[in-house]
Amino acid sequence: MQDRIDPEWMTEERRAVLRAVCDTVVPSIHRADDPDGFWARSGTDLGADAGTVHALAGLSDEQRSGLLGLIDALGAQGIVGASQESREALLTGVAQLGPMAAAGVGILTKLVLMHSYGLPCPTTGRNPMWKTLGYPGPTVATPTGTKTIVPFVPDGDVELTADAVVIGSGAGGGVIAARLAQAGRRVVVLEAGGYYDEEDFDQIELHAYKNTYWRGGPVPTADMNLMLQAGATLGGGTTINWTNCLRTFPWVREQWAQEFGLEGVDGADYDAHLDAVLRRIGATDKASDLNGPQQKMKEGCERLGWDFRLVVRNADLDKYTPEAAGYLGFGDPSGAKMSTEKTFLRDAFENDADILVRTRARKILVDNGQAAGVEAVYADPESGKTAKVTVFATNYKFAKQGQSGIEVSELLPGLSQVIDDVAVIRSGVTDRIDHDTAQHP
Ligand SMILES: Cc1cc2nc3c(=O)[nH]c(=O)nc-3n(C[C@H](O)[C@H](O)[C@H](O)COP(=O)(O)OP(=O)(O)OC[C@H]3O[C@@H](n4cnc5c(N)ncnc54)[C@H](O)[C@@H]3O)c2cc1C
Repeated sequence: MQDRIDPEWMTEERRAVLRAVCDTVVPSIHRADDPDGFWARSGTDLGADAGTVHALAGLSDEQRSGLLGLIDALGAQGIVGASQESREALLTGVAQLGPMAAAGVGILTKLVLMHSYGLPCPTTGRNPMWKTLGYPGPTVATPTGTKTIVPFVPDGDVELTADAVVIGSGAGGGVIAARLAQAGRRVVVLEAGGYYDEEDFDQIELHAYKNTYWRGGPVPTADMNLMLQAGATLGGGTTINWTNCLRTFPWVREQWAQEFGLEGVDGADYDAHLDAVLRRIGATDKASDLNGPQQKMKEGCERLGWDFRLVVRNADLDKYTPEAAGYLGFGDPSGAKMSTEKTFLRDAFENDADILVRTRARKILVDNGQAAGVEAVYADPESGKTAKVTVFATNYKFAKQGQSGIEVSELLPGLSQVIDDVAVIRSGVTDRIDHDTAQHP
């Protein structure tokens, strides 16, 4: 199901332990009524062992060595060759040793489950378990030739200049890049992820996680209490999100204004900004077909006299098809999703912004207390090419605003107050400028 890779850390002993873990989590069960082999197939039959080795290869050395330590410990406890009952007891017992052990067993178990039920067979493109589960797998034909942004690709180390560098091309960065570029500013957008759109959205969950999600899919917080998901691709989360467009609730805006003293968030200005964004992303309630359970909810609400409204979604009605709705979290294969890539980033690109993908900002250069540039690294996993990208600030000066005297575009008048109040980014002090949520559980 998945090509075998042979990294030097995956010894035959460890591979045997991994197979034992796979077949404990997804055991082969004999049942007379098993016409499609659903019960009979084990984790290793489904390629979960090879898939898990691939996943381990994608981890940092530190994370991988922790999981390999767990695999070694399970091997030392005799998991290979033990009965199903003993293997289950061993995994449960190890998980009870402490939070780290529980997390390790939890991660291995999830990797095995994800690959057992998610890996497509290379010949059929479908996982053999889907038939019994009633999951159709990919159903939407994908278009071609849809990418209209031409990213700037560094050919060796490169130095660029910009009035403004936008780090991250998601919901926030995209709007700012567009508005600054439209206002005539020279903008460079640095995006750590790659450029994927409907051409690439094959409706396979594992491919979507690998290509477009931050750290390859759901990630636990440092204390293991919460799982987080975020996009890491051109358009950020908006490329893989579910497109529900909710206006910020009045009580949230009041709280921002009253508790945090933010100006301009509880009045008409803010509404005008929301309207402008919703207009640009094509927010509509005409692309919200109800499925069976939702229809029942509607009927229930009506009988109870409760308010029922269709959710508003950012969708291009010319391309919209309800068939694609179930796959939105893997990227919209119909291309109807009006993501940041389809809207604000295109506006930025059409107004001469340079957009770099596979380019992770590493450090903000500071000169005399002012941001003077950004150092980034371009690394393309497909070509293997890497380059150092440095973007230097031009002489253009935004107006100094707020108590901090920070130079902020007049397009973002509220930002100086936020910076004054909560978030003076002391660049250069840390090179951990990518949003590492493990730091803020
Ligand atoms: C599965 C899923 C479903 C969702 N559904 C909805 C929904 O229906 N409705 C809704 O309103 N919201 C939804 N959201 C949330 C919404 O998508 C996010 O709140 C929103 O995208 C956040 O915008 P952002 O600009 O803060 O960051 P993001 O959109 O996450 O963009 C950040 C970008 O920055 C890049 N980046 C990070 N560090 C660096 C660096 N150092 N250098 C260069 N690039 C970097 C990342 O790769 C990423 O592309 C969903 C999110 C997910 C994950």
